[in-house]
Amino acid sequence: MRFIRKIIEACLRGKEKPNRQRETVIALAGNPNVGKSTVFNRLTGLHQHTGNWAGKTVATAEGCFLWEGRKFRVVDIPGMYSFAPHSAEEEAAAAFLCSGRADATVVVCDAGCLRRGIAFVLETAELTGNIIVCVNLMDEAERRGVRVDTEKLSRLLGMPVVAVSAARGKGIDRLTECIGKQRGGAASHTGKYSRVRYAPPIEEKIQRMEKAISTGTDGKSVGSHPRFQAVRLLLGDGSGNASEQLLETAEQCRAELEAIGLDREKTAAAIASRRILTADAICEQCVSTNGAVSRRTLDRRLDRLFTGRVSGRVCMLLLLCLVFWLTITGANAPSEWLSGMFERLEPVLRGWLESRGVPVFLKNLLIEGIYRILTRIISVMLPPMAIFFPLFTLLEDAGYLPRAAFNLDNSLRRCGACGKQALTSCMGFGCNAVGVTGCRIIDSPRERLMAILTNSFIPCNGRFPMLTALIALFLPGSIAPPFDSVVGALMLTGLICLGLTTSFAVSKLLSLTLLRGAPSSFALELPPYRKPRFGSVILRSALDRTLFVLGRAAAVAVPAGALIWLAANVSVGGETVLRSVCDLLDPLGQFLGMDGVILTAFLLGLPANEIVIPLMLMAYTAQGSMTGTDAPASVHALLTANGWTAGTAVCVMLFTLMHWPCATTCLTVYKETGSFKWTALAILIPTLTGFAVCAAVAAVWRMGFL
Ligand code: GDP
Repeated sequence: MRFIRKIIEACLRGKEKPNRQRETVIALAGNPNVGKSTVFNRLTGLHQHTGNWAGKTVATAEGCFLWEGRKFRVVDIPGMYSFAPHSAEEEAAAAFLCSGRADATVVVCDAGCLRRGIAFVLETAELTGNIIVCVNLMDEAERRGVRVDTEKLSRLLGMPVVAVSAARGKGIDRLTECIGKQRGGAASHTGKYSRVRYAPPIEEKIQRMEKAISTGTDGKSVGSHPRFQAVRLLLGDGSGNASEQLLETAEQCRAELEAIGLDREKTAAAIASRRILTADAICEQCVSTNGAVSRRTLDRRLDRLFTGRVSGRVCMLLLLCLVFWLTITGANAPSEWLSGMFERLEPVLRGWLESRGVPVFLKNLLIEGIYRILTRIISVMLPPMAIFFPLFTLLEDAGYLPRAAFNLDNSLRRCGACGKQALTSCMGFGCNAVGVTGCRIIDSPRERLMAILTNSFIPCNGRFPMLTALIALFLPGSIAPPFDSVVGALMLTGLICLGLTTSFAVSKLLSLTLLRGAPSSFALELPPYRKPRFGSVILRSALDRTLFVLGRAAAVAVPAGALIWLAANVSVGGETVLRSVCDLLDPLGQFLGMDGVILTAFLLGLPANEIVIPLMLMAYTAQGSMTGTDAPASVHALLTANGWTAGTAVCVMLFTLMHWPCATTCLTVYKETGSFKWTALAILIPTLTGFAVCAAVAAVWRMGFL
């Protein structure tokens, strides 16, 4: 009931017209992976994606809540460690906070690692006085024996501090109230917050610049946060708005610091370390630990297993295989049940349309064109997705994803790519468009491009059920259950590894040709292992991911289904349009070990890969070979009647893995790169690779070597 109420509340919130004049904007800031999105979801009732790894949020999300008749707009910005940005998403987060759009800022900190969070609070306090500190993950910290005295922390910082366990919703009411009580209007200093006193020579320069900024001696102030601006100008950042005179003063201060051996880098390091030391001193007074080591020891032991040189890779393959095995075995029965049910429903629907006097042409278009493709998509895609997504999200929530990235780092570096590419590849498993957007976590433009161009070698959820279905259909009949599902899982793992290896090989090629350069070093934060939240993970991945993807596929399938039915039933020059197109593409299809129908289905599947197999089956049945039943045996019979062999299935699987990305991914690549050239390459690279691989395999198969 609570869940339904939340959905209704969220819908109502969504329907409220934004009244920007009355609403108060609240920024949700903090280090990566401290639970900002979880807090955001609790505050707004929305369902922003959460995951246990740093860098998961790459774009801002907005939502609203009402408190005593006032409207609050909450903006969840990407995680950042400091205002000296190291990546595109950190830059966007810093720009948002500096823009002054937020009336108040909630800085979310991890109770188990408070020192780092407080250092960021201290830096943010130089920018705004309207800060609420949200000490999140209290439940986890308490389990580890960490106690935080929030009252004392609040006194020491001079700002409100709220203890929260966002995953359980504990403390959210107090946080809401605290936000509600904040004054609206532009953020301003209270003057009471705990200031960081920098080392004397640096402090003296900062104060001199502060004075110049706030008194406006140059007649042109750079903003309303003199201390923040002073620090940034001293470090050579944020000079865009500053007057000539102010820049000169900054230059002079820097020269004086350099004269005593403090160049820009050393000054930045001294400033950062003083913030950490101040944060340390504060935390020492309000954080106590007892027995906090046992959990870390367990984490370390698990890390030895999951990130060890050999054991890490073995565990990764085993986990992948286990996930696929569960998906394949679990999906069979519901798939068959669904297709049986839809088959039984078809005559009922046909009868109903007849009773309504629907013309024969329209009735056939609705049933054979639209109904069949929709039901095929649901019965083929829904079961594997409903199993795979929750399993994958559980691994993500437990903190395994960054460990997988860590294991692949070495191989990627050898290919001249960035280790974080492994994370964006993992995101590609869900959706390549998401994977491409996720590449913003990679700092170097060269490596980001490399990750974008190779992301489509990882089969997304649209292609994943295609692979599962083809493996199930063409698995050698001699393998008896339950070994067939194990062999199926092994084959799927092999295909995924092939996709990964191809993406590595193409990255290497790119690093030697178009994107030459040495791999940059990066710090990958390994989050603590967390007990995944089974209930909400399963619910969220079922609702948000599975139904979203299914909805998108269905939306694309309706026009595509209608189009292919029309093409199969409209004749030009004594030949149906579908047959003509398929005949035209047949020579190329045969050369690639497939046929014209398969290539046509892949082309029509450009809007969403999910519809390729259903389109293929429709095209074959439309050419009069068989009935529209979905039972695996009859699908197998339909395909073999149309000339399919095990070799065809292999080529189709390889082409599924390596061909043009779907339309959404292409648009995303264009949005991320802003270039037609790179978008064209993102299409050409996987397509040409697929052509080459399929042609080679088909040739070898024809010669009888396989
Ligand atoms: P963000 O990167 O800062 O947005 O962090 P997320 O909201 O994605 O959360 C990171 C991880 O911490 C996820 O696995 C969450 O499930 C988990 N998490 C967030 N808040 C809590 C909490 O209060 N308690 C526990 N145990 N886990 C939490």
